[in-house]
Amino acid sequence: MSMPLKLGLVGIGKIARDQHIPALAADPRFELSATASRNAAVDGVPSFASVEAMLAAMPELDAISICTPPQAHFGAALAALRAGKHVMLEKPPAATTREITLLQAEAARHGRTLFQTWHSRFAAGVDAARAWVKDRTLTGGRIVWKEDVHHWHPGQQWIFDAGGLGVFDPGINALSVLTEVLAEEVVVRQAVLEFPANQQAPIAAQLDLRTEAGVRVEAEFDFRQKGEQTWDIELLTSTGRLRLSHGGGALEIDGQPVAADAALAGEYPRLYARFAELCAAGRSEVDWRPFQLVADAFLIGERRTVAAHQV
Ligand code: NAP
Repeated sequence: MSMPLKLGLVGIGKIARDQHIPALAADPRFELSATASRNAAVDGVPSFASVEAMLAAMPELDAISICTPPQAHFGAALAALRAGKHVMLEKPPAATTREITLLQAEAARHGRTLFQTWHSRFAAGVDAARAWVKDRTLTGGRIVWKEDVHHWHPGQQWIFDAGGLGVFDPGINALSVLTEVLAEEVVVRQAVLEFPANQQAPIAAQLDLRTEAGVRVEAEFDFRQKGEQTWDIELLTSTGRLRLSHGGGALEIDGQPVAADAALAGEYPRLYARFAELCAAGRSEVDWRPFQLVADAFLIGERRTVAAHQV
């Protein structure tokens, strides 16, 4: 496999512009060679209205990175894998649990890399948090993930459409960090999902998660937060407490800040570095436990109707 990898970027929206394009521009292992988006393009890069048109016109592409909402992942990823491309997927991985299972099998069948990403796992404090928790006994935990949907997802109706996951779109990031950091598995014991009267996805949710040992980890997700934004995970153990804040970017142990290694800065540069390694090694990375937890919350959650919400 020769570097740089020629990459096609799919879904030119907020995250593509904020993170993917700058990370690709700074990484010599990739060349942004094409885009596929129905209504957007990137200056100086060949653009196509669909993944299928891009794949047909540019057989030289090595890899595809998909940053559309999850409802559009499956078809795009399947087409790319069947055309022999490596695929990187934004979170959440797909619209349904079956889709991600089939994509994993398809990648294996074609001997291509499927990198199903969780960008928050690449936040600067996460590796140190996992190492600290590893040999300790968890006694409790609390996740508070509250942000202003109007600020972070301006005009995005898809997030409140069926399959858009609503507040679980950011909440799944917390679950991706939790499942990465904890040495034990967790399950959803109970959930409450608050649906705006005019929308198909929840604007807030509360989860009661339990480890296999029965230890409770509460999670509170809310899209209606104004003012200070909160993306915190607190874990209590029999020998100290840990707090990850700023979505995993900052770590405190027993109230004392732990300085992060400068090499761990930048979630998206680290994501693309991992993608390049996986492509070179011919390996895939798929871990859809956070998505299973969200699906389970929808399966067993109590539904409440709250005030209508305009995007
Ligand atoms: P966005 O601004 O709406 O951009 C997504 C783009 O995908 C759209 O502009 C659209 O471009 C294309 N698209 C294709 N099929 C679509 C469909 N069925 N519905 C809507 N758009 C469709 O969304 P985003 O914020 O970039 O988020 C995209 C993904 O990145 C989500 O899965 C999200 O969880 C993840 N993400 C977002 C952020 C963030 O801060 N926003 C952070 C990390 C991860 P065309 O109309 O040109 O096709």
